[in-house]
Parts: sequence; structure tokens; C-alpha cells
Amino acid sequence: MKLFDVYPINNINIVKGQGSHVYDDKGQEYLDLYGGHAVISIGHTHPHYVKRLEDQLHQLGFYSNSIEIPIQKQLAEKLGHVSGKEDYQLFLVNSGAEANENALKLASFYNGKKKIIAFTGAFHGRTSLAVAVTDNPKIIAPVNETDDVIKLPWKDEAALEQAFADNEISSVIIEGIQGVGGIQVAPESFLQKIRSLCDTHNAVFIADSVQCGYGRTGKFYSHDFAGVDADIYTMAKGMGNGFPIGAISISPKIQPAYGMLGTTFGGNHLACAAALAVLEVIEQDNLLQNAAEVGGYLIDELKKFKQVTEVRGRGLMIGIDLPAEYANAKKDLLFKHHIFTGEAKPNVIRLLPALNLTKAHADQFLEAFTNVLNNQ
Ligand code: PMP
Repeated sequence: MKLFDVYPINNINIVKGQGSHVYDDKGQEYLDLYGGHAVISIGHTHPHYVKRLEDQLHQLGFYSNSIEIPIQKQLAEKLGHVSGKEDYQLFLVNSGAEANENALKLASFYNGKKKIIAFTGAFHGRTSLAVAVTDNPKIIAPVNETDDVIKLPWKDEAALEQAFADNEISSVIIEGIQGVGGIQVAPESFLQKIRSLCDTHNAVFIADSVQCGYGRTGKFYSHDFAGVDADIYTMAKGMGNGFPIGAISISPKIQPAYGMLGTTFGGNHLACAAALAVLEVIEQDNLLQNAAEVGGYLIDELKKFKQVTEVRGRGLMIGIDLPAEYANAKKDLLFKHHIFTGEAKPNVIRLLPALNLTKAHADQFLEAFTNVLNNQ
């Protein structure tokens, strides 16, 4: 059988990783500023992470959700503590799409309404409702099309107010910083407006934190910058540092009834061990502060480049908008300087490194970036 190539594949075979570096089969070292699309949160093969997963695997890899699983409770307690949402309830799943799917469904169970507000530029996943609220017609199959999703222009407060007028909105789903959409930061006033409209109309505020959450911006949820609490936070990516796990964190105002939520693999012992190890490292090594400091330094330095159109983002979620003449910058960073970065259309370089990136790594990137821009 031939493998279906999901994405255009670079002809590089990565076989090893350590911290912020990965290595190919020829032994070449690369600086990883992409983290497999914001997945590597505490660095590759972190010793504490490896040990915790190894110990768990020796003890018990999996048993069904029909029994008590103490490590799930431990994870809920730790996540509540690190995220500052101790009174929320945790439901564990396997991916970002599954988290959003469950959040949208739970909102509708809660208020009995059907309409969902989403935004231009949004990406929320590829399952049925998740893809319907995503702004990419090319990936929405006819079976996923629905009149219940209202797509509003990003940041448009007037359109938002108008959409609420008929009082039929079940939920609003929004990334605090759009990732796939090119690192677009939601203005604080916009998030506050969503909060107050949701309160007035008994709608559910869903904060998609799959890419912008888990400490990446220097706060646990990027929506925290606006000083608002969401009703449901969805997360995945950095949560397991590469082990598939996602979750929804549910505010006390929503109390799911038995049977509304369920999964076979979600919250399995190994996934919980991975997620706990990540939180322990985030806490012990003060990684929120590191993301804020090293990310802030990178953003400030990048703003000094006269060739750059715009630098967007917070902490270690950074978008560098470049004019079309620098279309080769990402490739040059990879093939000439051995640095992995991400991209977004039309010509945005995305940095989503591990949260323990050092200032020395940041300087290495800045030097390579200077070289790339000067040699186009
Ligand atoms: N939400 C956001 C903001 C994302 O960036 C992504 C993945 N790029 C998803 C949801 C979907 O996550 P997954 O691929 O784990 O289903």
C-alpha cells in the first residue's frame, strides 16, 4: 500500500529529537522553532516526560473509562491549578477537533439552541462541526455544510452585535490568537464584547486554545489577556508534548448530564501520564515566564527588521509577515541554516517553538534571519 501524502513532504527524515533540536538520518542538527505545529511544548524527549511515560507503560498502558482512573483526577487537579481554573470540570479527548466538536455539542445541550458564531480566518479542525466552523470552503464537504454556522468578519463588533439580535445563538467559538489564519491576535475589547453578549443571551463562549493555549503566550490561555473567563476552553497540541491528548475545561455554570460526553481512548493512562509530565515541567521550570520573556525579546528584535511588514503574536506564538519578494525565506532558513519554522498564507513565517526555548536559540534564529533577508 502507498502512503497518502497528507502534506507536501520535505525530503528530510527526522529520526531523533532533544530539547529544541531535531536530527535527521544523516546526523544533521536542526533548531526546531515549529515544534511539529505547536505540539512540542517542553522540548523533545524531555527526561522527566520520558521517565513518566516509561513508568506508566510498565505499570498499565490502558484500561477502559468504565473504571476509576486516579491519574485522570490528578491531571484535572494539576490543570486546574496551573490554568487558574480550579472550579472547572475536565473532560479528556484525543485531539483538537474532538475537543471543539464536544464543546460545540455541549453548548447546544446546555442552552438548547443551534446557531454558532465563528470568524473569518478561523481554524478549528476537520471533523463535522469543527470543519463547519473553520474558514476554508475547500475542506468543508457537502455533508458538513450547515445553515447554523454564521461566519462573521474577524474583529467586527457591529456584525457581532447584529448576529445576536435574534437570540438564537448557542455558542461563539474563537481562537485568542488565530494560528493557521496567520497569527492574528484577537483584540481584548472584541473578546470582552463576546463575553458580555454571551452573558446577555445565555450563549456559550468557547475559547479554542488548541494552538494559542497551554502557556504558549506567557499566560496559560491567551484569552486571559482580555481578563475574561470563557465558558469552555478547548486544548490539545502542546498538552501531550507529542502524545495525542486533548481536553475541554468546562465552567461550573455548565453541568453535563451523564451520557452527553464519552470516548474510548480519551484520558487513557499513558496520555494522562504525558500530560501530567508536561504540566509538572511547565510549573517547575517556570515556562510561562520563559515564554513571555524569550518570546517578548524575539518580538522586539524582529520589529527592528525594516524588511518585515508586520510582527504579530504574544510570547512564543509569533507571525512574521513578509513582502512577496521574501517568499523563499522559510526554505532558506531550513536548507541553508537548518532551522524549522512554520508558515501561513500569504507569506507569514510562524514560530511555535518549545516553551523552554533559550535566548541563545532566539539569537541563533535572529542571526540566520538577518542573513536570509540580506541574501534574497
Ligand atoms: N484548533 C486550532 C486552533 C488548531 O490550530 C488546530 C490544528 N491546527 C485544531 C483546532 C485541530 O486540532 P487537531 O489537529 O488536533 O484535531
